[in-house]
Amino acid sequence: MTEHPTISIADTAGFCFGVKRAVKLANEAPERHPDQKIYTLGPIIHNPQVVEQLAAKGVVKVDHITEIAEGVIIIRSHGITRQLAEEIAAKPGLTIIDATCPFVRRAQEIVARMSERNYEVVIIGEPDHPEVAGLISYGDPQHTWVVTSPKELPEPFFTNRKPSRIALLAQTTQSQELYNQVAAALLPIKGELRCFNTICTATSDRQSEALTLADKCDCMLIIGGRNSANTNRLYELSKASQPNSHHIETARDLRPEWVAGCTSIGISAGASTPQWLIDEVVRKIEELGENHPV
Ligand code: SF4
Repeated sequence: MTEHPTISIADTAGFCFGVKRAVKLANEAPERHPDQKIYTLGPIIHNPQVVEQLAAKGVVKVDHITEIAEGVIIIRSHGITRQLAEEIAAKPGLTIIDATCPFVRRAQEIVARMSERNYEVVIIGEPDHPEVAGLISYGDPQHTWVVTSPKELPEPFFTNRKPSRIALLAQTTQSQELYNQVAAALLPIKGELRCFNTICTATSDRQSEALTLADKCDCMLIIGGRNSANTNRLYELSKASQPNSHHIETARDLRPEWVAGCTSIGISAGASTPQWLIDEVVRKIEELGENHPV
């Protein structure tokens, strides 16, 4: 009797809530605005296949707002700076579809609110990441700080004679461990410390589930764009635990020798990988199983 390998797909594989929402808005845009051109500021997500599909529907990527004077502009899930939002709003010919993830929006609102109340705002995050650039822009430049570790906290927080008022938050994809370390390092300040946990668990949940699968499967396939940072990270983590791990963009990249002889195959996918790409990979594995029984 032919025995097929078991295929386990991570529950967390593929689109997170914010990306699903952004792609849905982009897909619906041509029907909702049939008489206008539709643009995204940068690729809507880091997945070339989804960007291609949208381009075929007429949703075009532009790199800068100066490239367009009219039409519909879709804002990506990780948000934009306040200045850019104002620049777009000032163009009378543009209709805005704001696909900023509500979790990112909440973090932006916290920065704005705490800055208005004269708190020093500390953001844990990658200084060059667009989401962080957006967060910073909602704060007072003199009193908004980005740190990647407790060591980078400004010295005056601890030496000021005047009590400090500090608000702490994080880029949504930061680790809870780092957040706890920075919060603990701030505890000795004189004054007031307000901690806002703005971390979204979509990334860490996906990583821990992929690791669990990698531990028990003979082969791990991580599906997602080569330009997707979270897919690359998922692959690195999986590879460290299961050497027979492979990063593929589509079913075409899957090599039969990777799965030959395997009894259990695990699949996960980055936050920007659509379900249909995952389904294609599963179909390909099943076809291979039929042609080469294990
Ligand atoms: S990872 Fe979290 S914060 Fe980022 S887009 Fe997805 S749901 Fe939103």
